[in-house]
Amino acid sequence: MQYFINVVLPVPIEKLFTYSISAAEAEIIKPGMRVAVPFGKSKIYTAVVAELHQTPPEAYQAKDIEHILDDYPVITEIQLKFWKWIAQYYLCSVGEVFRAAVPGALLLESETLILRNEEGIVDENALKDDEYLVFEALQHQSILRVQEISQILNKKNVLPLLDRLLQKKVIVLKEEVFEQYKPKLVRYVKLGKAYSSEEDLAELLNSLTRAPKQSQVVLALFQLQAVSKKPIKVSDLEKAANCSAASIRSLIDKEILEEYLIQTDRVVYEGEKENSDLKSLNPYQEKALKDIKISFQENKTTLLHGVTSSGKTEVYVKLIDAYIQQGKQVLYLLPEIALTTQLISRLQNYFGDKVAVFHSKYNVQERVEVWNNVLGNKPKAQIVIGARSALFLPFYELGLIIVDEEHESSFKQYDPAPRYHARDAAIVLASLHGSKILLGSATPSMESFYNVKTSKYGYARIDRRYGDVLMPEMEIVDIKEQTRKKRIKGHFSERLIEEITEALELGEQIILFQNRRGYAPITECSTCGHSPQCPNCDVSLTFHQHRKQLRCHYCSYHMALQKACLACGSATIDTKGFGTEQVEQELHGLFPNATVGRMDLDTTRGKHGYERIITSFERQEIDILVGTQMLTKGLDFRNVGLVGIMNADTLLNFPDFRAHERSFQLLTQVAGRAGRTQKRGKVIIQSYNPYHQILQQVTTSDFKGMFQEQLYEREQFKYPPINRIIKITFKHRDYNKLNEAAEWFTQSLRNVFGDNVLGPEYPPVSRIRNLYLKNAMLKIHKDYSLGRTKNSIKKIEHSFNAIAQFRGVRIIYNVDHI
Ligand code: ADP
Ligand code: ZN
Ligand code: ZN
Repeated sequence: MQYFINVVLPVPIEKLFTYSISAAEAEIIKPGMRVAVPFGKSKIYTAVVAELHQTPPEAYQAKDIEHILDDYPVITEIQLKFWKWIAQYYLCSVGEVFRAAVPGALLLESETLILRNEEGIVDENALKDDEYLVFEALQHQSILRVQEISQILNKKNVLPLLDRLLQKKVIVLKEEVFEQYKPKLVRYVKLGKAYSSEEDLAELLNSLTRAPKQSQVVLALFQLQAVSKKPIKVSDLEKAANCSAASIRSLIDKEILEEYLIQTDRVVYEGEKENSDLKSLNPYQEKALKDIKISFQENKTTLLHGVTSSGKTEVYVKLIDAYIQQGKQVLYLLPEIALTTQLISRLQNYFGDKVAVFHSKYNVQERVEVWNNVLGNKPKAQIVIGARSALFLPFYELGLIIVDEEHESSFKQYDPAPRYHARDAAIVLASLHGSKILLGSATPSMESFYNVKTSKYGYARIDRRYGDVLMPEMEIVDIKEQTRKKRIKGHFSERLIEEITEALELGEQIILFQNRRGYAPITECSTCGHSPQCPNCDVSLTFHQHRKQLRCHYCSYHMALQKACLACGSATIDTKGFGTEQVEQELHGLFPNATVGRMDLDTTRGKHGYERIITSFERQEIDILVGTQMLTKGLDFRNVGLVGIMNADTLLNFPDFRAHERSFQLLTQVAGRAGRTQKRGKVIIQSYNPYHQILQQVTTSDFKGMFQEQLYEREQFKYPPINRIIKITFKHRDYNKLNEAAEWFTQSLRNVFGDNVLGPEYPPVSRIRNLYLKNAMLKIHKDYSLGRTKNSIKKIEHSFNAIAQFRGVRIIYNVDHI
């Protein structure tokens, strides 16, 4: 009797690979365990066992495996199913999903580079002889290849040994040396528990008369507490009492003072106590929670549509609590972890260390730790907050998935494969686990709301802000008119300047939003604001400098750049636009006494860049914060009285069929940062097109109107949500070869799908890293079989691969391209 396993290799090959195993190995091996296998000429990879069987492969002689790496499965059955779904739906290989899904430490291979772990404390006595040899070698040489280690030990397969060394924290992997997530802990002090009553206090002070230094410290603490409700830092007390760290330490030792630690990103501000009790919901939140539960009973994906600051998070918290009470795991997905320290600390306040944060940028130990905690269903990671990659954790008892800010496009993975949409994949994951899934947003995506309209999803709504805070008052300022009347300074209208002045006088903070997205500038007439549109698609044309052309990225339409505006005839066509930096600069001139901060990609690059700016704005060290769409991500600032949108038109004119939907979402979200406490906030939107329907819809909070209108246009032009789109990118370093290949492939698609195929078209950046790019797009009706579509595409791909002259041209599929 022969035994075989089919394994998933972390490489982009379409099929599972078969290896032979012995009868003894067949006793041990289970799907989900990792094995080290030879592949290609001399490589060794870590592979995951997908299935055991007894049928030898037809096309090749099955090789033996090198080694079994695990004692028990580290990949669950559900994960394997999930990987297969992703590979199938997003047109990639299971191997590519595997590589993206597991932390590198579980993926050792012969090319991996090994470093010594500078942070680990190594107990040399606990190392076996061969482990010690590796440890010693790494003292002399900072980097070793797996192959070199193989030579040192004179042993063919060293992966199990390296696996142990990783666990013992002796080594780390090169590509895994990521920025470490270490929330900074700050020391705070308060009076000891024994001195809470006034009598006890008086007694304490009496007893300290003989210790003047110590009484000085206690009195200084009183003083600090009298002037501020904020927690008192040890360092502040030292300064105020003019004493040494040692004298504070001795008071702490005597339990007169009590020390406690708060993560800097967890500090709770003015008036708010740290409070681990769940808040009780108001009637609107209660109603929403009830509706969610009813919808969950029908096992429906449910959308919580709650205006900004309506208290969606508190509703999530109630649900999370219910599921963890039942011993279930909860996954909380967010578009970007870096921007959500506020949310993390809110959840940690409620659920303490049950909350684990999973981030692909964290270092390998932390990720493997979360991985193992989740695999073991440990309380320590019962609630996982993560960006899209957290979907791949080995959940066992997943009860609930929350997808917060579900409309965010950063849920879609762009490069490399798998190019999955985390929200959509989460829905599949939930169905594999039989768990519930809640999507939440103040501005739902067209897709999700469409699914609500067609009764595919359940729906819960909160249409007022928590605490009956009014939605901010919105005003659109016509820049065209202001420019004509010379009532504009730089990019600031008179109205905006007035409002900023007033807010500053009232001690309120201000957020100014300017989005400079995209690479190629848009042409826009600075007299009338006209921006040329494609006649075939509902998008603006993009200016291409080198050819002086205006082009559509979705069809092949293009025109020469006009010397004068097509609408008003002025020769004032502007191609530059302006960014946050210019806004900042102008502010210095206009408001020399205000402190200005800037939040965009350039200012948040460094370690904890976001936190620094967010914290500093929270502490009111910054009066005016200028930023890009980063500002929209669910931040909860207490003192923002005014939000200004410098120029809404750059958003509206963005060359994409989703531009209007996105503008509505972004503007509504930024506006939602204003006036989150009792006083009503104010929003000023500057635009050349004050009557643009999207701006009208934003200012009247007319989500439904926006939805209806956009849906009609999407229907007209065959875009999502009624249609699916698959973008196909061709890449090659030879310009002519690429052109021919792209033409051939697209024509073949056209033979099958007719005019549902657009392109091929050069993307605005048509060469990246010496590779030329061309895109084609396929639109298919939602009800048309996706399986059949993909089969047709794959068939074309097979013929394509057989054509010698196209060899080497890469084809990249992006299903549900965003
Ligand atoms: P959203 O996520 O909908 O924008 P949040 O959950 O951030 O809204 O709530 C807005 C503010 O209202 C927060 O500061 C939050 O602490 C407060 N809040 C919401 N619900 C409650 C509640 N039931 N009790 C007390 N405060 C609440
Ligand atoms: Zn014009
Ligand atoms: Zn077009």
